[in-house]
Amino acid sequence: MSDSPHTLTCPSCGADNPAGMSFCAACGAPLIFPSAAPEPPPAAPRPAHIPTAEETARKQRQEVITAMIIEIAAGIFGFLGIGWIFAGKTGQGVILLISGCAAILFGAVVGLITGGIGFVCFCLYPIFPVLSGIWLKSVMEKDRGL
Ligand SMILES: [Zn+2]
Repeated sequence: MSDSPHTLTCPSCGADNPAGMSFCAACGAPLIFPSAAPEPPPAAPRPAHIPTAEETARKQRQEVITAMIIEIAAGIFGFLGIGWIFAGKTGQGVILLISGCAAILFGAVVGLITGGIGFVCFCLYPIFPVLSGIWLKSVMEKDRGL
């Protein structure tokens, strides 16, 4: 068999026929011209991966944990509400951010005045981001039906 453009291979019997023939000289089957052959349809784009319910739940749980970690980590550095903003709960996040800053300022002032009590407050401060993170986690889980 030849792949030369001057011959056509019979799809029925495999005989080579001169280009231009409509029917196979050997068996009489209609010859398909390469140029006339219908192009194979372009490969359909792969359907987007449809996540299973389990994958979706796992992803949502990861988002919840990430938001909680951000809330606790940023909160310990004095920025409450960052995790809430990350989770799309901007309103609560901004309120927490403002009240967190106010609480730190208040704590600093009280600490300056009282000394020891202020230091105790300072040591207790990380409770707030942890509580805020746990609260955020429960709110997000409720939102997502987890
Ligand atoms: Zn043939």
